[in-house]
Amino acid sequence: MTRHISLPADILPHDGRFGSGPSKIRLEQIDALVQSNPTVLGTSHRQAPVRDVVASIKDGLADFFSLPDGYEIVFGNGGASAFWEIACACFIEKTAAFGVFGEFGGKFAASAKAAPFLSDPVIFDSAYGTTRLPELTQDADVYAWPHNETSTGAATHIARVPGSAEAGALTIVDGTSAAGGLPVDISETDVYYFSPQKAFGSDGGLWVAIVSPAAIERAAKIEADAAASGRWIPTFLSFGTALRNSRKNQTYNTPAIATLVLMNEQIDWLNRNGGLEWSTMRCAKSAATLYSWAEESDFATPFVTDPKDRSSVVVSIDIDESLAAADIVAGLRENGIVDTFAYRKLNRNQLRVGVFPSVEPEDVRALTVCIDETVSQLQGE
Ligand SMILES: *Cc1c(COP(=O)(O)O)cnc(C)c1O
Repeated sequence: MTRHISLPADILPHDGRFGSGPSKIRLEQIDALVQSNPTVLGTSHRQAPVRDVVASIKDGLADFFSLPDGYEIVFGNGGASAFWEIACACFIEKTAAFGVFGEFGGKFAASAKAAPFLSDPVIFDSAYGTTRLPELTQDADVYAWPHNETSTGAATHIARVPGSAEAGALTIVDGTSAAGGLPVDISETDVYYFSPQKAFGSDGGLWVAIVSPAAIERAAKIEADAAASGRWIPTFLSFGTALRNSRKNQTYNTPAIATLVLMNEQIDWLNRNGGLEWSTMRCAKSAATLYSWAEESDFATPFVTDPKDRSSVVVSIDIDESLAAADIVAGLRENGIVDTFAYRKLNRNQLRVGVFPSVEPEDVRALTVCIDETVSQLQGE
């Protein structure tokens, strides 16, 4: 039986959304949405008003990520999960090597394993809460891993596997929860893809991929050879189709226009404040608040033990077994502080906190106070 928790109003954060995706949407984004009605919302995505929003997102992301020469920004529907299937269909020629240290990295590897036209992937895995990059592998034509493993709160540094580019292989990084909050040098990747409902504080359903000339060439070759090889590339999963539409500031099929408007406003906000450098420092500050609080706490410890693997966008905190993390999560929710639960399949007595750029560092400080107060109420003090 969970007891009721009542937190005093003066310790609460201003905004109680700490989810790891969907994540907090700022009020200014909602204002942008209201402003976009009726000229953009509810109008054709093939006409100038919506295409201008797409163009603005492209320009904004190019700025934010200091887009290297020749790289392009491509969009499609279905989110990062759809992009795994697109990568299997259009980027992996035969064999991919994966770094797997959590649920999301594992899902992409599972898609590659299930694809009948690909060889079994080569998996470099490690325990959840650590990180593992793929190593140079004979015959691998793609190297892939998540920048930030959202299921565990472990993050990697993005650099190509030494020797992989020389061997003609592509580097494909899942930036879904990292993009916008963790440092990245895009030139170390060929495909950096993400969904907008994490650091970009928008709604889900869209995928965005930043692609190198080598990646564009690879997809064109696989699609050109498809007829002869018998490899079936469904149009919905065709990267070439997505690229051709994106070059015209469109998507192959109808996108959620509200998502585009929300994302455009967020990118604008990030760039106005100082871009990637500003947002990574802001997230790092929020994360440091949580990690140092946990290290000093007598009931909480950072799940990721090696500080260099600790994510500064998704922070996971183990809770002492004398307490049920689920009771803390429920007590916080009763007071408007939501989505602090651990990744469902991780099955740990844990809290997980999304500290994306939209989250105020002061609210993260307030969250630690609220967790402490919830715990003392649960302990009946
Ligand atoms: C959330 C997430 C995904 C899945 O994104 P969808 O938009 O739900 O498909 C994939 N990879 C990572 C690292 C994520 O955090």
